Amino acid sequence: MASWFRRDKQEPEGPPGRRRLSIEELAAAFPDSHQAAAPEADAAQAEAPAPQPEPQAPPAPAATPPDAASPAPPSAGAPEAPQARAPGAPAQSVPPAPAPSRPEPPPIAPTPAEPPQAPAAAPGKKGWRERLGVSGFARNLGGLFSGNPRLDDDLLDEIETALLVADVGVSATTGLVETMRKRMKAREFADANALLKGLRDEMVALLRPVAQPLVIDTAARPFVILTVGVNGVGKTTTIGKLARRYKEEGHGLMLAAGDTFRAAAVAQLQAWGERNGVPVVAQGQNADAASVAFDALQSAKSRGTGVLIADTAGRLHTQQGLMAELGKIRRVLGKVDPAAPHEVLMVVDGTTGQNAVSQVRQFKAAVDVTGLVVTKLDGTAKGGVVFALAREFGIPIRYAGIGERSEDLRVFDAEAFVDALLPEALGG
Ligand code: GDP
Ligand code: GDP
Ligand code: MG
Repeated sequence: MASWFRRDKQEPEGPPGRRRLSIEELAAAFPDSHQAAAPEADAAQAEAPAPQPEPQAPPAPAATPPDAASPAPPSAGAPEAPQARAPGAPAQSVPPAPAPSRPEPPPIAPTPAEPPQAPAAAPGKKGWRERLGVSGFARNLGGLFSGNPRLDDDLLDEIETALLVADVGVSATTGLVETMRKRMKAREFADANALLKGLRDEMVALLRPVAQPLVIDTAARPFVILTVGVNGVGKTTTIGKLARRYKEEGHGLMLAAGDTFRAAAVAQLQAWGERNGVPVVAQGQNADAASVAFDALQSAKSRGTGVLIADTAGRLHTQQGLMAELGKIRRVLGKVDPAAPHEVLMVVDGTTGQNAVSQVRQFKAAVDVTGLVVTKLDGTAKGGVVFALAREFGIPIRYAGIGERSEDLRVFDAEAFVDALLPEALGG
């Protein structure tokens, strides 16, 4: 592996003794890092509508297409179709559950969304490593250091390549590598291993500022979380995971089925609600999403519910339509509670690499995104986009999705994340 990279770089192409390829050349050399090739590509994307074509949207390992015309997985477990409701009449498909059960709830009914072969991640750092350690990112960096490399510029070049291939992005990669180069020239590192430790610390330092957990303000009743993001990134799944988490933490919860655009979306959210014993406010399909949000917030408020999480569509006919709808939902929530939504949580798919960066750029311009969830970090070679997001936006990363099961959501932890990506020898 290392020799392959090296051979590539030794192609005579520059003045003698100057074997380094530019970042752009390197990025272009790796078709793997589909978007890393260029800031221009990124800029071009920013012009294009963010919502991706549905069927092939995420090149995810996910077994189920995120947005099939066929019912989304959880809906299979929800036989009753969403009934048409009288507008204005909040519809709870499930009565509020009694007291939240502290201990692990009985195993929830398995659904197709939770592939039986995928073991649930263990809690703690171990879970992170088990899920992320198999990533291409870990393999590239790990392979690099297994061969006892020399402490020289070639090593930095190889690190640079590994970071770009993992979709860390040109800007964050340059920052990391140049810092390491300075420290190396200053003779801070005794050997390659010391350099890797230094790299680990720089990576953690890059993420630490954005590792800000979402704190639910219990004085806000309800604390309103509006989830946004393009189709297929994992919004509804993340809401299901959050519902479980918050319920276990003892919060009273309500969900709002604000993705009225897709046939299966309402049923999918209702299925998550049923599994977790959480009421779901829904109206008929094609209902006005703002109206659903309004009803849900009024209902949650009158009941004194602690947390309301609203789902939204990820795709309308035009991007303008999508952004206008989000703006309207915001405004209508604000009519009931000027402080709502308390959190605009944008969900991005970690497997989409630099594409995730342009999505955040677009949503941030349209709605005030206050937190991020990066999903599908399990088994992707592209998890490096987390660094690119941190560098580019500084928006708090609240959670990381590391699997399809309801327990596969972690509070984002900079150290655990970095240590899961780097070779274990570093003591992560
Ligand atoms: P939405 O369109 O944004 O609401 O996306 P969905 O919640 O419907 O999820 C789309 C697909 O991504 C589903 O198949 C989910 O099971 C899958 N998914 C969501 N989060 C994760 C994750 O963290 N890891 C993996 N492997 N799959 C995920
Ligand atoms: P605008 O479209 O920006 O003018 O926002 P509106 O104030 O018209 O509200 C948009 C949507 O929110 C409406 O179509 C309703 O569905 C919902 N909404 C707003 N106010 C109320 C209300 O007082 N009661 C109910 N049930 N829904 C409301
Ligand atoms: Mg959805």
